[in-house]
Amino acid sequence: MTEGPHVTESTRGKPLIVVDGVEKSFGDFRALHAIDLTVHSGEVVVVIGPSGSGKSTLCRCINRLETIDAGQITIDGRQLPEEGRALARLRAEVGMVFQAFNLFAHKTALENVTLGPTKVRGTPRNAAERRGRELLDRVGVGAKAGSYPAELSGGQQQRVAIARALAMDPKVILFDEPTSALDPEYIAEVLDVMAELARDGMTMVVVTHEMGFARRAADRVVFMADGGILEEGAPADFFDSPRTQRARDFLARVL
Ligand code: ADP
Ligand code: MG
Repeated sequence: MTEGPHVTESTRGKPLIVVDGVEKSFGDFRALHAIDLTVHSGEVVVVIGPSGSGKSTLCRCINRLETIDAGQITIDGRQLPEEGRALARLRAEVGMVFQAFNLFAHKTALENVTLGPTKVRGTPRNAAERRGRELLDRVGVGAKAGSYPAELSGGQQQRVAIARALAMDPKVILFDEPTSALDPEYIAEVLDVMAELARDGMTMVVVTHEMGFARRAADRVVFMADGGILEEGAPADFFDSPRTQRARDFLARVL
């Protein structure tokens, strides 16, 4: 396996997500202040930071699960629409994988994966199922296509959730602590699938406490604290010589 950044200045694609001066408050609590972040096509950005620093809120704003109070967010050059069909279309371009697996309990793995394409994209059922099986194979759960979530391990469920995100052919996938709810023995299999996606060139924003993954798979590490981005840089630079005391304290606790 190749280690380290796989996107260099020369191979880096166009800006895919541009977060510009974004602010977000809940009541009078400011959860995000003056966030600027650009994610380029093919890039893997790992977001780390203490609990409560605004990582999930940032992901939710990018996917417009939250409104923003100031600034703007563009996906592939287009500003996020307020609502309606335009929002649904744009949101379909941004896949999301959450901490809790969020699969539909009364649907099989394959049905979970084909639901979006058939309902949102209008893909014919046959084509959606063919592609769904390919994707389940790709994440290593092809044999479980007919199983219900309750019959799958946490690691298998999360891999189905990744296949479900991929089924919409998103331009980028946001992962919000995808392994935090897993029993330890299942973490590696999910991180391996994510590392493979990264190698295949998928654009990814990954919130995680898995520092080994960050070091191995990230092109760039973003460190958040108190609703702001305090540092960002190549993983080796960040982990070996963090510039802020906040980052040093954080790394001392998690490494
Ligand atoms: P992280 O993901 O880094 O742990 P979050 O983005 O979940 O942090 O939360 C950032 C801050 O915003 C926290 O203090 C949290 O309590 C607050 N917060 C998040 N969502 C809401 C909400 N819907 N209502 C009120 N406060 C919220
Ligand atoms: Mg969070």
